[in-house]
Amino acid sequence: SSADLDCDVVVLGAGPGGYSAAFRAADLGLKVVLVERYSTLGGVCLNVGCIPSKALLHTAAVLEEAQSLAAHGIKFGEPSIDLDALRAHKDGVVSKLTNGLAGMAKARKVTVVTGSGQFVDPHHLQVETKDGIQTIKFASAIIAAGSQSVKLPFLPDDPRVVDSTGALQLASVPKRMLIVGGGIIGLEMGTVYSALGARLDVVEMLSGLMPGADRDLVKVWEKMNAERFDHIMLETKTVDAKADKDGIWVTFEGKNAPSEPQCYDLVLQAVGRAPNGGRIGAEHAGVQVTERGFIEVDRQMRTNVSHIHAIGDIVGQPMLAHKAVHEGHVAAEVIAGKKSFFDARVIPSVAYTDPEIAWVGITEDEARKEGVKVDKGLFPWAASGRAIANGRDEGFTKLLFDAETGRILGGGIVGTHAGDLIGEVVLAIEMGADAVDIGKTIHPHPTLGESIGMAAEVAHGSCTDLP
Ligand code: FAD
Repeated sequence: SSADLDCDVVVLGAGPGGYSAAFRAADLGLKVVLVERYSTLGGVCLNVGCIPSKALLHTAAVLEEAQSLAAHGIKFGEPSIDLDALRAHKDGVVSKLTNGLAGMAKARKVTVVTGSGQFVDPHHLQVETKDGIQTIKFASAIIAAGSQSVKLPFLPDDPRVVDSTGALQLASVPKRMLIVGGGIIGLEMGTVYSALGARLDVVEMLSGLMPGADRDLVKVWEKMNAERFDHIMLETKTVDAKADKDGIWVTFEGKNAPSEPQCYDLVLQAVGRAPNGGRIGAEHAGVQVTERGFIEVDRQMRTNVSHIHAIGDIVGQPMLAHKAVHEGHVAAEVIAGKKSFFDARVIPSVAYTDPEIAWVGITEDEARKEGVKVDKGLFPWAASGRAIANGRDEGFTKLLFDAETGRILGGGIVGTHAGDLIGEVVLAIEMGADAVDIGKTIHPHPTLGESIGMAAEVAHGSCTDLP
């Protein structure tokens, strides 16, 4: 067949999974083509996900911390907010990273083809570029086409109804904002808009916000954040919405539903993400896609077609960038002939709210449900010199150990910088550490990270008092 490009590996999608796979494959000496429909590399995470949201969350945290200094005797005036400048700052952060990726692709001689790709048979991909169709012949392929946000069918097509991508555009700051779906993405965006002055409502079908995290962690966040919300509607759902001149009128149903429709200036739908498996012509390559659009893979990230791998959001939960990156490395290494496997024991989760909530491994809820006997070590930050000095001692660090062996099985942290702290717990689980290993590791004082050593000492029954 005639192909415009011939390569060892084609990677479809340039998100964290795709670019990591492409770079690793190139580093291992393979000829790589990376296909991306957007003009920049980085996928959801860099362009409209992890990175822009964290840029805005940092601004929000500094803004609120500055205001909190009144208690230290230092007062700033009312903040004046220039949304255009804030948006430009966020866009600058994103382009710094996406340009960096383009440079890294070039340095590795990865050929980037910009356009939408579809499989046409098990060894060819067709890309619709702005200069016409390009055909790429490949020996192996890595599908990294990611996911997109789920749209609720009854929400009106209106600029005041947005998904996370729309919310990150920061068109204006609403007076009243409804967050549909009380998960990480919804609550992170809510944190940003609240810091900029919006009042929040949140509606969640389940019985608690931030599903997946232990309730004791979430409770600390709830207490600190209660004042941002007018209504927290749990076990409730939106059933209808109408766009009117004065706002979007939303009707609710369920346990905590207001009897009347409520009016909002902005409605954010954050009810989850759906994989793009059904949109890439997978059937032409013989790759099986589930009804929901996921692609099933083995521990070498192989699909049912052995020379075609899949990674990232498209292969399933948790839909997180760091999972996609690791899967990308495995797929590339396997194609390069290495015996690599995705064998991570655990994948950490972080909500970059204020305070942050981070957890990894078994949760207390899961331990209870599954009948796993665990010992718990909990260190309240009210006893941490650093947290007190920071004026943020509401948090705590919790570790869960196998009651029989003492091995660490899980951990949760709520507090400022929890996401940066959880890495140590992840490492401890991967290394099979026990409470003594962690408790006898000397952590620098005074740091928040010390709380991990303290929690281990609590579990081990040899708590020392260190202010
Ligand atoms: P994606 O990043 O979705 O990339 C897939 C790429 O494939 C896209 O660029 C897409 O354009 C391209 N593509 C798809 N189909 C085609 C086609 N047919 N032809 C050409 N190109 C195609 N995760 C974290 O770990 N930490 C966070 O803090 C975090 N924050 C988030 C905040 C928000 C608001 C959102 C929405 C997500 C966040 N995530 C976060 C999740 C994270 O973004 C995803 O898990 C991650 O991007 C998945 O990477 P991926 O490589 O699987 O796919």
